[in-house]
Amino acid sequence: MPELPEVEVTRLSFADRIAGARIVSARLGKPLRWPMGVDPASLAGRTVTGVRRRGKYLLLDLDEGLLLLHLGMSGSVSFAPTQPPPGPHDHFDLATSRGVLRLNDPRRFGAVVHAPSEDSPEARKLLGRLGVEPLGPDFDPRVFHVALRQRRAPIKQVLLAGDVVVGVGNIYASEALFLAGIRPTTSASRISLERATRLHAAVRDVLARAVAKGGSTLRDFSNAHGESGYFQLEAMVYDRAGEPCRACGTLVRRLVQGQRATYWCPTCQK
Ligand SMILES: [Zn+2]
Repeated sequence: MPELPEVEVTRLSFADRIAGARIVSARLGKPLRWPMGVDPASLAGRTVTGVRRRGKYLLLDLDEGLLLLHLGMSGSVSFAPTQPPPGPHDHFDLATSRGVLRLNDPRRFGAVVHAPSEDSPEARKLLGRLGVEPLGPDFDPRVFHVALRQRRAPIKQVLLAGDVVVGVGNIYASEALFLAGIRPTTSASRISLERATRLHAAVRDVLARAVAKGGSTLRDFSNAHGESGYFQLEAMVYDRAGEPCRACGTLVRRLVQGQRATYWCPTCQK
């Protein structure tokens, strides 16, 4: 599943090239997760003014309104001067004066939604409950700590829920908790300011490293389809159950929280 770093690297792969492009036509394939909310033909003539990211949404700003793209479980986006004829999994093409933006999504959990503005009900329905951006200036250790104090759920699940801080997926939550030395089962409300500050830094660190790693393989990623676009960090604990912890040698354990696998070191994480 594309996570925040993959979505950010996708954004970086075409944002500069598409900015300023005029839309020639738009084509929808099979239905995606949500309806687009506008006749694709009505997009012709508008200009793409830029591409931003909010959580795992790509926001294509137009001179009038915006398009919200979500990659779902298996989506990938490519932008090229020309594209081959659409295949069975190519469900959205945006032809512009600078190239064709294409969404390939075999499982069709992705979406392209039009909204008149970022404050419109259409956009707020998707973006309104998202927590702060982990790589942005609003993600502050003290504010983070205050938010955690109000949650009794295990910290791993609070991170995944996305309403405190957005876009920290399963791998990155496991890795950040390891780096911060915090057990994934710890109630969020019981994490001290000192430990919340460590976790804040760890979340930023794992995500920023993943973006940097993805950036170095940008060409491969932007041409990838489905899961081949996924880049793995050198994981400290994730998917390493029964293997020795890279820091202390204790065997890494696995548990399931909210139907998601969690990996942790019982010695390094308290
Ligand atoms: Zn350890």
